[in-house]
Amino acid sequence: MSVCRLQLIASLMFFELVSSNLYKEPLWNYDDETNWPGLNCKEGGKRQSPIDIRTTDVIKDYTKKFIKYGSLKLNGYHRVLVSGINNGHTVQFSTEGEEAIHPTVTGGPLEHRYRLEQLHFHWLSEHSVNGNKYPMEIHFVHVRADLAVGDALGSKDGLAILSVFCNVQAELDDRQEEASAEIMQYIPKLLDTGDRISGVLLDMTKLMSPNLGSYYTYAGSLTSPECNEAVIWIIFDTPIYFSDSDYRKFGKVGVGRHNFRSLQRLNHHLVFQPVDSHINTPQIVRIFDEAFKMFAEFFRNINAFMSNGLRTS
Ligand SMILES: [Zn+2]
Repeated sequence: MSVCRLQLIASLMFFELVSSNLYKEPLWNYDDETNWPGLNCKEGGKRQSPIDIRTTDVIKDYTKKFIKYGSLKLNGYHRVLVSGINNGHTVQFSTEGEEAIHPTVTGGPLEHRYRLEQLHFHWLSEHSVNGNKYPMEIHFVHVRADLAVGDALGSKDGLAILSVFCNVQAELDDRQEEASAEIMQYIPKLLDTGDRISGVLLDMTKLMSPNLGSYYTYAGSLTSPECNEAVIWIIFDTPIYFSDSDYRKFGKVGVGRHNFRSLQRLNHHLVFQPVDSHINTPQIVRIFDEAFKMFAEFFRNINAFMSNGLRTS
């Protein structure tokens, strides 16, 4: 098979991840990870994601071994033209229009400039911290600006994913409410597989962690097929917040029983953090207790939903 053909196939696989322009039935599902396409998914590689981040093992990067390029710099996330889709695995918002005006990120562990392709949600979170998951995790998926998508998938640093944990609490303050409203207005329009909306302007700064200077970072993989080991992960430790009622709305989104990949064996995963970051973990356990109760309720709701024959995927 020619390199071109392989690149085309890689592009098509990634297409499902990045594109809102074409919907096709999902070729894989979260209930049966052993049947995911892609050798890395099946056999596991040396740097598969997601992982449990053990804070005692995280390396403060005094010697700039991994975080070599100063502070993270985000450009153009304030007004981003996107289209939204329920692709059967998640709710995803993909950038539209001229690439030149898409948001970009540089700095931190990133040697290159990366352009935002899409953001999507996982509930529960995919990564965990000291064994504890958050109610939700948002992935901002970026591709190296100097590479075509097919080439980026084959490069050890072809993609950069910024990850934001989401916590849940009963009531939000005004600022949190505003952040949540930025995305929640669109979720009810994307409940069924194949649902789509376009021409949406998102202020993505509202969905970003309030502390961009404090994060975990490591070289890992995509957490969906074909699990390419091409991702520099940047996982902010300070979460954003959704209300109980907003979080419950994600339970009505038709993506199957759950949409997170199982935690992967720790292998060649060295996790770093910036020298001046202050990682704060104790509250996760308490909040997760609440989230877990809510998630159990989701399962009940989804099961009821399915037995009523209302689910469309
Ligand atoms: Zn993801």
